[in-house]
This record gives sequence, structure tokens and C-alpha cells, in this order.
Amino acid sequence: MSALKPADRIGILGGGQLGRMLALAAARLGLDAVIYDPEADCPASRVAAEHVCAPYEDLDAVARFARSVAAVTFEFENVPVESAREAARHAPLRPGAQALETAQDRLTEKTFLNAHGARTVEFRAVNSAGDARAALAALSAPAILKTRRMGYDGKGQAVVKSAGEAAAAFERFESRPAILEAFAPFRRELSVVAARALDGEVRAFALSENHHAGGILRESLAPADVSAATEAEAVAMARAILEALDYVGVIAVELFELEDGSLRVNEIAPRVHNTGHWTMDSCRTCQFEQHVRAVAGWPLGDASAFASARMINLIGADVDAWPRWLAEPDARLHLYGKRAAREGRKMGHVTLTRPLSQD
Ligand code: AMP
Repeated sequence: MSALKPADRIGILGGGQLGRMLALAAARLGLDAVIYDPEADCPASRVAAEHVCAPYEDLDAVARFARSVAAVTFEFENVPVESAREAARHAPLRPGAQALETAQDRLTEKTFLNAHGARTVEFRAVNSAGDARAALAALSAPAILKTRRMGYDGKGQAVVKSAGEAAAAFERFESRPAILEAFAPFRRELSVVAARALDGEVRAFALSENHHAGGILRESLAPADVSAATEAEAVAMARAILEALDYVGVIAVELFELEDGSLRVNEIAPRVHNTGHWTMDSCRTCQFEQHVRAVAGWPLGDASAFASARMINLIGADVDAWPRWLAEPDARLHLYGKRAAREGRKMGHVTLTRPLSQD
């Protein structure tokens, strides 16, 4: 149970915007962030104490990196499990490799969730075009075919309405192992971001209501307008997941709220998450600080909100409006320092806040 000391080094696998915001939070707490990312000019490298620029598969480089820091964490869930395990041989890895392994494969993930009381929509494993047809017949249309691995922001997914479409989608995804999911007739999408400390304490942020377009998060509203029962159910599911994984750090649990008010887990992200960005401007401790505290073996901070938030992602050319956001009195602008605004790329976000009443 080793805790870090101020001025210690914290290693972060991945150097995108999440790594950047983690590095900034670490710096404020007197810790030096060391970023491991194969891309020379990645967003986090430019705010970190050091950048190790090497491929994730280079186990020698991973070992050297891990030996040079007091603890290792990661900011994206597709870090190769083998590399995470290598890091864990040389420094405490928080959260552990099991969380990565669980989240990297949709079949493993959904099986794990249902075994721990976190219900998902119904699903079937699909390993052949025949499986795809049979699964569609079992679940009924419409349904969603998703590749088991390497899917994010709606990639590797197709809505299918017939057995023929299900088989064709499977083949379009190069016959990679997949699952077919029942379509969730959701009223809203919600998420809960929560943290577990080294001593097992769990603290959750208020739920966020999330709006996606084209599979990409566009906006979050938080604290979401949900009943106390919904909030309690979501936090209980997050706690069960955190405990089952003996997890240390921040996790995000993405949820569908069905018409009858019940919840289904869509997926978990074993890291800080876009639907938790609102906490930077509206909570007493933000998700990035909370994660750094947990990874450092320090006590968690107060996760309560002092303001309500509307978080707007700046995707692709949206970022060109940055001067307008700067001029907006209740807006807080966050830019990630990415040089090219490619379509679909998350370039920054804005949080519009309003103080919550004190009563
Ligand atoms: P995912 O990559 O699994 O997070 O999916 C991206 C988005 O697709 C979700 O945020 C939903 O808006 C939608 N989606 C995914 N799975 C389902 C489902 N089973 N039913 C309805 N919508 C879904």
C-alpha cells in the first residue's frame, strides 16, 4: 500500500487530451507526470515533466518507463494488456490490468457486468455470419452488431434490421469476433463517474445526462435531473464494479435509462471520461484530481457539485468558434492543443456553469 510523496513521478500510458488533463492535475498537486505515448507531439507531452516516445508494444521501453516512476496509470483502454502487465512488474499499476482486460472485449465486459449485478441489454456472441443470423432471430430487430475489440465513438458498429443485414455487417467488419446487442429503447443516456481509493473508499460524482450524435458525445448536462432511486442504483452498480475489479482510480459507467426508469449498463471505461469533464468547472474535486489522488494512494476529495453544468464538446471545425467562447461570461474554455482539426476529432470542450442554490 504505497502512497506517493509530493515531487514523486506518476507515469501515464497514453498522451491524448485525457493524459493532458491528468498531467495538469498532477502538476497542481506537486507530482511530475511522465507521459508514455508513441506520438511525438501528443497533447499531453507538452504539459508533462517528461515524454517517453515509444511504441506500446516495446516491453523494454515500458519496463524502463515504469521503473522511473512511483506509480503507473493509463488514459485509454486500448493499452495492450501485455504492456500493462509489464509495467505492473516494475511499479504499482492503478487501476490494474484486469480492468483493462475486462473493458477491451465487449463480450468479456458484458458477461462480467451481468455477473456483478450491473444489468446490460441482452446480447449474443457472434463468430460467424450464421451466428449473426441466429442472434438476430433470437433478439429480434433492430439490433446492433459491434466488434468485440477496438471499438470507440461508434466505430465498428452497425444497426441491423434483418438477418441478412446482420450477416452482411459481420462480413463488412472483416468477420472479426463480434456481439449482437438488443437495441435499447432508451429515454436518455446517463453516466456515472466514480472513484475508488487504495483503502477501498468509493466516491461518485453526480450523474450526467449525455447526448451523442454519430456515436460521438456532443453534450453533457449535470447534475442530471434524476430521481434519488436512479442515482442510488447507478452508484450501487459503479461500486459493485469497482469492488469486483479491486479497482483504484476513476471509472465511468455509461448507462441507458429505459422508459420504465430502469437502467442498463452500456459499457464501462476504466479511466477518466469525457462525460466527467463537467466536474472540472462544477465540482469541488474534478475527475482528474480524483484519479491522481487515487493513483497516488491519497484520500479522495469532495466530489460534490457547486454548480450545474452544460459541457459542450468542440469536435473538428467546432473549435474555430473558440474566440466566441472566450467572450462568453459563464463559459470556461478548454483546448487540447491539437494542431489539426480533423473531422470527428475532439479538439476541446466548453463548460457553461450556473451556481447551484445553497439550500
Ligand atoms: P458505444 O460505443 O457502445 O458506447 O455506443 C455508442 C453509442 O451508440 C451509444 O452512446 C448509444 O447512443 C448508441 N448505442 C450503443 N449501443 C446501443 C444499444 N444497444 N441500443 C441503443 N443504442 C445504442
